[in-house]
Amino acid sequence: MRVADVPDPVVREPGDAVVRVTRAAICGSDLHYLHGKTPIEPGDVIGHEAVGFVESAGPGVTRFSPGDRVIVSFDLACGACWFCSKGQTALCDDVRVLGGGPFGGSVPGAQAERVLVPAADVNLLLVPGGLDDERALFVGDVLTTGYYAASLAGIAPGDVVAVVGAGPVGFFCVQAARVMGAGKVFSIDPDRPRLALAAMVGAEPVDPADRHPESVLAEATGGRGADVAIEAVGSTPAFERAVGVVRRGGTVAVVGVYAGETAQIQLGVYWARALTLRFAGLCPIHAWWERALAEVEAGRIDPMPLISHRLPLEEAPLGYELFERREATKVVLLP
Ligand code: NAD
Ligand code: ZN
Repeated sequence: MRVADVPDPVVREPGDAVVRVTRAAICGSDLHYLHGKTPIEPGDVIGHEAVGFVESAGPGVTRFSPGDRVIVSFDLACGACWFCSKGQTALCDDVRVLGGGPFGGSVPGAQAERVLVPAADVNLLLVPGGLDDERALFVGDVLTTGYYAASLAGIAPGDVVAVVGAGPVGFFCVQAARVMGAGKVFSIDPDRPRLALAAMVGAEPVDPADRHPESVLAEATGGRGADVAIEAVGSTPAFERAVGVVRRGGTVAVVGVYAGETAQIQLGVYWARALTLRFAGLCPIHAWWERALAEVEAGRIDPMPLISHRLPLEEAPLGYELFERREATKVVLLP
């Protein structure tokens, strides 16, 4: 991971906009490049969480003008295909991921001074006047992803919800579950500082080294287990934990990213337990970000406790080290 000078992006297609980035963030998904879970080419610009202002826009951009403060969506959709018309923008025929390497369509990313956003009318969202950049920043990815995961899980008022993983995505799953009327929300993670953050926004922290999560959830529900579990890690043990803590007839929503992992599933057990599994895929940010942003504006979802470090863009490699070592919960880069 290094910082280098690259050519400034320029508008090429009529729908393109160039955004001058004022805040970018390092995401758990960026670590997948370091760990080799997602491929990347040497010299690729990564980063997909950003807020900034429009610097220039092609003639086809009708919703934004230079100077507008905007949030960038991490997944880039065309806005015109069958899937996009159904709000399934992450399943778009032409879906790409900002800074997502060859699998993401090789679009240069947003941990940079400037980023080119294709189909800007679709892939940008205006930041409301009163909202500062840092509160808006995560709406383009982890915040809205947490909101989407909680929605996908179909939380009914009073439900007992277990969120496996208390990273940034889990942190927002907790807040979204509460907004959606969950009775109790349990946050399960072996990382103490992250558990403390989840507790700060209303979760009951469960460190598996202290207490067996299956027992904790059973005790909280008259022996049944959680109504809903959200898997916000992306590993086989986390998936198995989510399935383990949920009750018969419960729902497991899987928002953690999977690539080559496998799990042995005894179909009869899933069948007899009448489990509902919902795989999130990439979050269709566009379908959810206005709702998620409204919750931030109303103060019902608060991103600020998550930010542990602010670094100039030049120090991005240090930010990656801190995040990788879990000394940082969320690193914000200032280009
Ligand atoms: P992160 O790596 O910062 O956090 C993951 C957390 O999980 C850590 O706190 C870790 O201690 C915890 N953990 C690891 N193994 C665990 C286990 N077995 N049980 C409980 N906790 C465990 O990542 P993040 O930014 O919070 O993202 C979480 C996942 O969501 C990643 O896989 C990321 O790629 C994915 N993600 C998905 C989407 C999407 O569109 N579906 C969007 C953003 C992020
Ligand atoms: Zn599309």
